[in-house]
Amino acid sequence: MSKPINEMGWDELVPGAALYTFDGYVDYNLADIQPEDRKYSETSSKSMSVGDWRVIKPVWNSQTCIDCQNCWVFCPDSSIIARNKEMKGVDYEHCKGCGLCVSVCPTNPKSLLMFNEYETVEDALSKWPEKKKRGE
Ligand code: SF4
Ligand code: SF4
Repeated sequence: MSKPINEMGWDELVPGAALYTFDGYVDYNLADIQPEDRKYSETSSKSMSVGDWRVIKPVWNSQTCIDCQNCWVFCPDSSIIARNKEMKGVDYEHCKGCGLCVSVCPTNPKSLLMFNEYETVEDALSKWPEKKKRGE
């Protein structure tokens, strides 16, 4: 039987191997554990506050959101907070400001938009664009 991946040296990994950022060997079903209860490694961006790298941030507008979960699925840093298929907001401790969530948001106007980091959420919401008409 092959070794658990966390006991392998870098030169034992095969192309395509999945590298987990968890502490120790994971013997539980990740889908059953909420992200905040998982034991992430200290070297993981999930457990480190890396939000201060960001210069622009996504702001969420709950008034137009349809809870489609696209942003949650596509965020590369697990920074969209959702519970029971309902969007709850953005985790600014981990969000890098990549803007991918905005790209995949399907509403008109979008329910996530990028703003400068220094902009308050209240100010950003007050500048939200109107719905675009066909052809605009
Ligand atoms: S900006 Fe990027 S990292 Fe931040 S929530 Fe959106 S997709 Fe995730
Ligand atoms: S992609 Fe847009 S509409 Fe869908 S859950 Fe995220 S913010 Fe809401």
